Amino acid sequence: MMSRAGFRLGLTIWEATRKGAAHSRPGPSKTNMTKMLSITLPDGSVREVPQGTTPADIAAAIGPGLAKAALAARVDGELRDLNRPLEADAQLALVTAKDEADALELARHDFAHVLAEAVQSVFPGTQITFGPATEDGFYYDFAPRDRPFTDEDLPAIEAEMRKIIAADKPLKRKVWSRDKVIAWFRDHGESFKAEWAAELPAGEDITVYSTGDWLDLCRGPHLASTGKLDSQAFKLTRVSGAYWRGDQKNAMLSRIYGTGWLNKKQLDAHLVRLEEAAKRDHRKLGREMDLFHFQEEAAGSIFWHTHGWTLYQALEQYMRRRLIDAGYGEVRTPQVFHNKFWVTSGHWEKFRENMFVVPDERPATEDDRPLISGDAVFMALKPMNCPAHIQIFDQGIKSYRDLPIRMAEFGCCHRNEPHGALHGLMRVRQFVQDDAHIFCREDQFLDESKAFIALLRRVYDDLGFTDWFVRLATRPELRAGDDAVWDRAEAGLEQALIEAGLPFEWAPGEGAFYGPKIEFHLRDAIGRSWQCGTLQLDFVLPERFDISYVGEDGEKHRPVMLHRAIVGSMERFIAILIENYAGRVPLWLAPVQAVVATIVSDADDYALKVVDQLRAAGVRVEADLRNEKINYKVREHSLAKVANLLVVGKREAEEGTVALRRLGSEGGQEVLSLAEAVERLRREATPPDLA
Ligand SMILES: [Zn+2]
Ligand SMILES: [Zn+2]
Repeated sequence: MMSRAGFRLGLTIWEATRKGAAHSRPGPSKTNMTKMLSITLPDGSVREVPQGTTPADIAAAIGPGLAKAALAARVDGELRDLNRPLEADAQLALVTAKDEADALELARHDFAHVLAEAVQSVFPGTQITFGPATEDGFYYDFAPRDRPFTDEDLPAIEAEMRKIIAADKPLKRKVWSRDKVIAWFRDHGESFKAEWAAELPAGEDITVYSTGDWLDLCRGPHLASTGKLDSQAFKLTRVSGAYWRGDQKNAMLSRIYGTGWLNKKQLDAHLVRLEEAAKRDHRKLGREMDLFHFQEEAAGSIFWHTHGWTLYQALEQYMRRRLIDAGYGEVRTPQVFHNKFWVTSGHWEKFRENMFVVPDERPATEDDRPLISGDAVFMALKPMNCPAHIQIFDQGIKSYRDLPIRMAEFGCCHRNEPHGALHGLMRVRQFVQDDAHIFCREDQFLDESKAFIALLRRVYDDLGFTDWFVRLATRPELRAGDDAVWDRAEAGLEQALIEAGLPFEWAPGEGAFYGPKIEFHLRDAIGRSWQCGTLQLDFVLPERFDISYVGEDGEKHRPVMLHRAIVGSMERFIAILIENYAGRVPLWLAPVQAVVATIVSDADDYALKVVDQLRAAGVRVEADLRNEKINYKVREHSLAKVANLLVVGKREAEEGTVALRRLGSEGGQEVLSLAEAVERLRREATPPDLA
């Protein structure tokens, strides 16, 4: 499935409030008759309070401890400022540091404001633009007056931020008219902000947040004051360039990134994690293990080297065997399709800017450059495999007895990601999904879902991922299909999880527009989580592509379609494997399972015999006959994460033995007969499904 996460991050966080004046204008009621509100607390108790009472007032009425701990409030589920007056009957929950996700989001958003204020105070004349909270902190984009910022500027900015936090300035929400906002930013020399505000709909009220004289356009919510932040819980991490509105035709801005937490302990733990992650970075290990490389001329696509492709193939072949065992049939479908497929699937309308579009025409080359007439039909490189599998399903008439059909493809997909978003194997433009679609009857999807979960569990076990969690994402606001269908689909997936004995959390509203989905998240060795597996129920694509099967009753019926993947993108999953194992992947996946290294050239012939025997036993082995010191060879192969080094010298050649050194075994070695060594490595290198 395609995701636009990240694309509109700045916009959604910063867009002005869309609510009408009646809902957002704060302050007491204009009439003398003070209306009383019924505020229901999480324990079910109800408090009668006058209109205009704030969540902070209610916290104080409950007790001084809560008044101190409260950071914000959830009013009818919406996260709001503690000091924003209540205007109607509502459900109220006070948010404290215990509600970690909310508290972190609020703190990071506050840090972004404090950063912006600090930068303008250290570098007067700098213009502000936008800056949201991120996954581990925040950033803010600035238009500097004199020169772009550099990392050397960060300590002074951090010091100023600490001053602003220590001053404990109240963060005040104000509702202004658009004209007032524009005028304020113009008067303060903020042309970027003024430009932005001018494009907001006229007549709508806009919220701004101020700390003293400083203010920013912002939807909020925020903590009550800067002093609620821990001045030891953030760190500015780096500076990079960014274009105004993400468009390279626009002005280049300076983006300052920071990481922000609730306390110093959390920050320190995060910094340690970053350090550990840097050591495990798959791009660094990919070089050291000679797995792959990238180059500008093919941005976002991978040059797999022999070692990397061997690892890739070991994974793919294993997956293929597991799929065949589970009753799947493998297919292969085209790379480039007429755009009408993508019109039907909805991608052409929604994700066209993420697709590589090519005209179906042979360009003329007379002028030394491709010439396209402009009348060609458009084709596109497939961003996903689903419509292609539907075409295979749709060949010939299917009967209810043919179902379920489980169609798998290691399908190569292309998505036109911006250069700046590309990241090693994690985010690429060309990737392969371990994709499959199950076409089944509605009465079959529960069993199919359970069978898929069992398969996924087996694969994760084999790959050494035992710590994972599950989310069930339900109907989003914008969706296709009627509610009765959604009810059945959500209940079906929930039932499958219950019957599989898997605990899960709900992710309300996060389903795809065509159906609910189960997400499988792996936790790696350093505590990061990665969404890899997915199981999605889809009632919409079969409808749009008008596919059917003939039921027992002789009538046409719509099949249900399940989209499912276990590892997701093969490329990204290999990056996760490399980082999880710090390069020391399970032996059956390792590109080089053993190296036979000679101590002296007298042992060359024997070394080649050892290699032959290992290779005949199915072990991936290389010989190192170079005229180098053995310690040099050991160092080099351990850097390349070769798990087994078989050292042979004159004595081993005479006695028919090998000295086996294991990666990470501190120089210890074990002398074995050749036959014994071959048998042991053969056994250890066998993939788990073949053992
Ligand atoms: Zn804000
Ligand atoms: Zn699909």
